[in-house]
Amino acid sequence: MLFEFGTANRIIFGAGTIKRVGGLAADLGRRALVVTGRSPERADALVQQLKRHDIIACRFSITGEPTLRLLANGLSQARGHDADLVIGFGGGSVIDAGKALAALVSNPGDVMDYLEVIGRGRPLTNVPAPCIAVPTTAGTGAEVTCNAVLKSTEHDVKVSLRSPLMFPRFAVVDPEVTLSLPPQVTAATGMDALTQLIEAFVSKRSNPLTDCLCRDGIKRVARSLRTAYFRPDDAGARSDMSLSSLFSGLALANAGLGAVHGIAGPLGGLREVPHGVICAKLLPTVVKINVQALQNREPTSTALVRYQEVFRWLTGTRTATATDGIEWLNQLVKDLQIPPLCNYGLRSSHTARLVLQAQKASSMQTNPVSLSAAELEEIVSEAS
Ligand SMILES: [Zn+2]
Repeated sequence: MLFEFGTANRIIFGAGTIKRVGGLAADLGRRALVVTGRSPERADALVQQLKRHDIIACRFSITGEPTLRLLANGLSQARGHDADLVIGFGGGSVIDAGKALAALVSNPGDVMDYLEVIGRGRPLTNVPAPCIAVPTTAGTGAEVTCNAVLKSTEHDVKVSLRSPLMFPRFAVVDPEVTLSLPPQVTAATGMDALTQLIEAFVSKRSNPLTDCLCRDGIKRVARSLRTAYFRPDDAGARSDMSLSSLFSGLALANAGLGAVHGIAGPLGGLREVPHGVICAKLLPTVVKINVQALQNREPTSTALVRYQEVFRWLTGTRTATATDGIEWLNQLVKDLQIPPLCNYGLRSSHTARLVLQAQKASSMQTNPVSLSAAELEEIVSEAS
């Protein structure tokens, strides 16, 4: 057994913990770039809190996913403000942008120097500015990962800026912040967390530490995602979902993911679809095809035993079969009213290109079984 486990320097979890961000920030810097989502006024209370701690804040707002152009704007704003600290306050895209800006503000050049796949892929030379990640959704776990997913509209792909130096200094996870999330965001982000937990659990790189996190997280999502969707002010369900999301980030950063995320990357680059919606639509079919492929080609694989465990936790039934587990997932996607991918303009003519790109994705390397082009085609067609 040989493994490594990396995460944020300090994780602070619990209702009301957002009130501690100002005090934590005061130990790290004096000039903060606060990255927010499309409603920057949501960060008003946070900016006031920073002011009380003598921190001068400058806001940078992200609408949609972080594109390279948006990031270049954020970088010139951060450099203009002389930022010595970055706070990401928002969903996964905002936190990813925050981590990327913290890395770039203390390193020379621009993002293309450091981007993988389409950039020059150089390692960061300087330690990034300290970053505090405060998630306002419960799904991506970006507060404890060391990469930032960025979109290149020029190349129509999503790629990562990645470095072990990019783990946030503090991850402050306050479930109370998620009480006001609209149901469709709760649904999509929650399905992302569930997908990340299942993929990390059956991943080729799973380890005993990530296993513990996935076991606990999957059970919490199974009992609380529906409740958080139908009763948004249920504090217990929100706490379960924030914790599961955190666990999914801890797990994926150390165990990797699988075919759902391998396809979700290129698909999200091709069409503007919320990442969680893509995960929700792909997950049941990927589980089905993975189980079939394992039964046919690697019947002694421990991943099959792991899938059995997942099906028992999801359904709450000791004798649950693969059919029961997949049916449970399909029913969940239906109950959460996840829209079909064709609503976002995905067509069968996109399939061949998606399959080619998915085969090269890093997440595909940790899928429990290697899938053929025909199997990937089947997954994409069924999900669209
Ligand atoms: Zn994800």
